[in-house]
Amino acid sequence: MILMQGKGVSRGVTGGPLYFFRRSSGEVTQRTVEDIEGEKARLEQAQAQSVEQLEALAEKYRAESGDESAVLFETHAMFVEDEDYVDCILSALEEEHCNVEYAVQQAGEQFAAMFAAMDDEYMQARAADIKDITRRILNNLMGVVEGGIDSEEPVILAADDLAPSETLQLDKSKILGFITQGGFGNSHTAILARTMGIPAICGLGDALKQDYEGRTAYIDGETGKVCLEPDEITLQSFREKLAKQEQMRELMQTMRGQEDVTLDGRHIKLYCNIGSPEDVSAVLSNDGQGIGLFRSEFLYLAASDYPTEEEQFQAYKSVAEAMGGKRVIIRTPDIGADKQVDYFHLTKEENPAMGLRAIRICLNRPEVFRTQLRALYRASAYGKVAIMFPMITSVWEVKECKRACKSVMAELTKEGIPFNPETEIGIMMETPASIFMARDLAKLVDFFSVGTNDLTQYTLACDRQCNDLGKFFDPHHPAILRALKMAADAAHAEGIWIGICGELGADLSLLPTFLAIGIDELSVSPASVLPLRAAIRKSIAQTCTLEKLEG
Ligand code: PEP
Ligand code: MG
Repeated sequence: MILMQGKGVSRGVTGGPLYFFRRSSGEVTQRTVEDIEGEKARLEQAQAQSVEQLEALAEKYRAESGDESAVLFETHAMFVEDEDYVDCILSALEEEHCNVEYAVQQAGEQFAAMFAAMDDEYMQARAADIKDITRRILNNLMGVVEGGIDSEEPVILAADDLAPSETLQLDKSKILGFITQGGFGNSHTAILARTMGIPAICGLGDALKQDYEGRTAYIDGETGKVCLEPDEITLQSFREKLAKQEQMRELMQTMRGQEDVTLDGRHIKLYCNIGSPEDVSAVLSNDGQGIGLFRSEFLYLAASDYPTEEEQFQAYKSVAEAMGGKRVIIRTPDIGADKQVDYFHLTKEENPAMGLRAIRICLNRPEVFRTQLRALYRASAYGKVAIMFPMITSVWEVKECKRACKSVMAELTKEGIPFNPETEIGIMMETPASIFMARDLAKLVDFFSVGTNDLTQYTLACDRQCNDLGKFFDPHHPAILRALKMAADAAHAEGIWIGICGELGADLSLLPTFLAIGIDELSVSPASVLPLRAAIRKSIAQTCTLEKLEG
């Protein structure tokens, strides 16, 4: 038996084979090849494999989301065998005697550049499709596993740590839990695990060895313990925990359909955080009453070029429709810091968390901002969409955001495109400046949502990505709770509501404090909704105190 101790960042117990995430270097180098016929055969095989994958994806999307999504994959499948594209690859093979990977990459770059240079905006956007198709053929040539997991049965996924863009590619149906060498409670692996409602442990360091691949592991996301090939006593204790977990799940199902109200009649909205339209099914199955934070940057992270207005519109519309008139708060992209997107070409910064990120990028790049706002307003005709701006520090930023919204609404009106002119606008309260300016900011918006992850980072001067800060990174710090109260008082004085969408919102031990402060909404991972509802329904708001705000 081997025991490892890490930090539990998503609760739950599970057991299964350990599997290490396969990461491709993605690098293609040029080699001289004599056997050109052999390279051609490899190309044919990779094309056939790509077409097969794309047809399977089209079938899956047709069943889940209808024809519109499926057509994209069918078009990709056709392009894999496009005569001009294939001719371009074959000529490179014959003329340059190079390896097929290099020929495919060159053809992809050439075609993408050709589309990008076209006048028509629709054709320009096809450059991203070519890059996507080329990447797929290359992956098949190089044996890179789609979804990162080449296993028939579900696994406990191990990694050094996962980048946000890597978590997006994972085949989630194959993951029982996550364990990582690095990482931290606010990392994207942790957030993804909580959204999926599966256990995760980070910070295992060198104790987690690649040699353990394939061995049976049991993990406990509460205690942070990982056990390989447990002895009988340890196994028995895991089994007991698993049985309890199952019982708890069944008990929580009785909370479905119940109101989010305390014993003395205080209502609180229980919404969910999501990163992609795929996550909506978890929101619905956990009975979330709305979406309090749709991190739209994940659409950008998943793409190889700026997502077009149409692509974004389809994504936002599908979420708005699926939520059937319940509020869907979509946050404009929080790119930068830990979420880097290559095609944004951001300058390397010494302190990216304090650099050009989030709303600062949007205000500096009005075209990127406008494209997204157009997609958001168009989607507002299909449900209760609200728009939220991250990393606000100043009144002028909010005014500028609102000016951009107005200008987009004027454009859509002129073009006769439907939208909801009453679309709510909110801001994230995640910088100390926003707390100090709360009263002025509240006059300009419809709601506040407190991002406690960043608020903790900036208020306590603690890097949220640093593993070694331990007790110094303390979201329970009275400074954070007082900041929450200051923001809530300002919001209520100006007649708007306030929620929490940072990870702290799901912290059951703070629920009485949130009730005493008067928080109106909690946006949490879908798996946290029913346990929170059970706790709210047992609480008496009037007896809750502010004692945790004392130093
Ligand atoms: C936060 O900062 O609390 C938040 C919800 O935003 P993110 O974690 O995406 O920065
Ligand atoms: Mg944040």
